[in-house]
Amino acid sequence: MQFYLATSFIFPRSLRLRLFTLCFIATHLPLLGYLAWGLATGRIALPEFVLLTLATVVGTGIALFGIGALLNPIHALAEALHDGKDAGPALPVVGDVIQTLYAGVQRARDRIDDLHQAAHEDPLTGIANRRGFLAELDALPADRRRGCVAIIDIDYFKRVNDLMGHEEGDRVLAAFATRLSALVRRVDLVARWGGEEFAIFFQDCIEDEASWSLARIASRMRTHPIGDIHGRPISFSAGICRWNGGELEDAFARADEALYDAKQSGRDRICRAPSLLQEV
Ligand code: GH3
Ligand code: MG
Ligand code: MG
Repeated sequence: MQFYLATSFIFPRSLRLRLFTLCFIATHLPLLGYLAWGLATGRIALPEFVLLTLATVVGTGIALFGIGALLNPIHALAEALHDGKDAGPALPVVGDVIQTLYAGVQRARDRIDDLHQAAHEDPLTGIANRRGFLAELDALPADRRRGCVAIIDIDYFKRVNDLMGHEEGDRVLAAFATRLSALVRRVDLVARWGGEEFAIFFQDCIEDEASWSLARIASRMRTHPIGDIHGRPISFSAGICRWNGGELEDAFARADEALYDAKQSGRDRICRAPSLLQEV
């Protein structure tokens, strides 16, 4: 690598021309040595010198031809990989090895991406799962790690399964996830928390704003139901808690308590966790 860098002043943009130059100098060194010695001592033999020059030129020609031929497939491979083409069949052993390595690395990358997605996404609804949600929150810059968290639970969901079957239950879950995602802002995060529970992070919102946003969704559930239970549109209950970048678990525990209050006081409503003094 050091030699490569040290010789980069010779044809810096072409490795092929750099090789040619080095090869040319190297093959002519004996001749130049003989010339220098002959001139210094006055004992130069012209026929030998001419013969030696011709032999060196022929040798240089053969070396240059060989290097060019060896570089061709590697050059073709580099161009094919750069253009995203399959260069395999056109290339001999070196090309095959590089191509195989390249394809292997690419496959490993794709597999890692798939695994990462599977670990962070809920397969039924297509939205983030709890792990994905927490990872997204974690990745937010410090100044965006504030707002409100909400836990949302579909009311009497068990009856959907009991009355209409598990498949219909699955459809309702997916439709509810779509409904939530469609009606929050792009900066808000929506996730399936587990079972028929969902979570939302309302970025940079106070409780009033988060509550209005959920009330708008609740109203949409009545005007455009995603399903019904005994003729009544499917509804949800929610608990909201302010989060100012502190312990997320505490905020969710308090949102959960508020959700419990919402269920206890009749469902289809949104309750807020009481404000803590340090969060005012
Ligand atoms: P509440 O209003 O108190 O929340 O009543 P609920 O019926 O919604 O709550 P409960 O906890 O009694 O029932 C939740 C049901 O959700 C039970 C479980 O079988 C169902 N469930 C959880 N995950 C899935 C799922 O992935 N698909 C389907 N179809 N049902 C699920
Ligand atoms: Mg529940
Ligand atoms: Mg429920």
